Amino acid sequence: MPKRMAETVFQKIIRKEIPVDILYEDEDILAFRDIHPLAPVHVLIIPKKEIVSVATLEDEDVPLMGKMIRVARDIARDLKISEKGYKLLYRVGEHGGQEVQHIHLHLLGGARLSENIHPL
Ligand code: AMP
Repeated sequence: MPKRMAETVFQKIIRKEIPVDILYEDEDILAFRDIHPLAPVHVLIIPKKEIVSVATLEDEDVPLMGKMIRVARDIARDLKISEKGYKLLYRVGEHGGQEVQHIHLHLLGGARLSENIHPL
């Protein structure tokens, strides 16, 4: 049996033990506003399935990732940031700056965003 990962804050959010501003939910996916927004629109799209990161993604999870991108697209349309554009971001591991060990897609928009990607 693989070792079970420590529970993350996102599992508590999925179980509704921590309140968040939910923008979308179905049997596979939850989308909610980031508590520390980096942009006027900052939404996290997460699978309910426990997946740590892109680095540990299984082939069987690929359709789920497509579904997450589709949810991001639809939320961007609903929030009227689609025409001007937005960023979709997956952080992966330490160098990627991933803090929560449950895969999540950031939807960032509502303003033109700087790149600001450089080695620390
Ligand atoms: P990352 O750095 O890519 O792992 O992103 C984790 C994100 O989760 C950060 O942007 C946090 O602000 C966000 N976050 C952590 N806890 C919560 C929470 N309780 N509600 C909403 N967003 C959260």
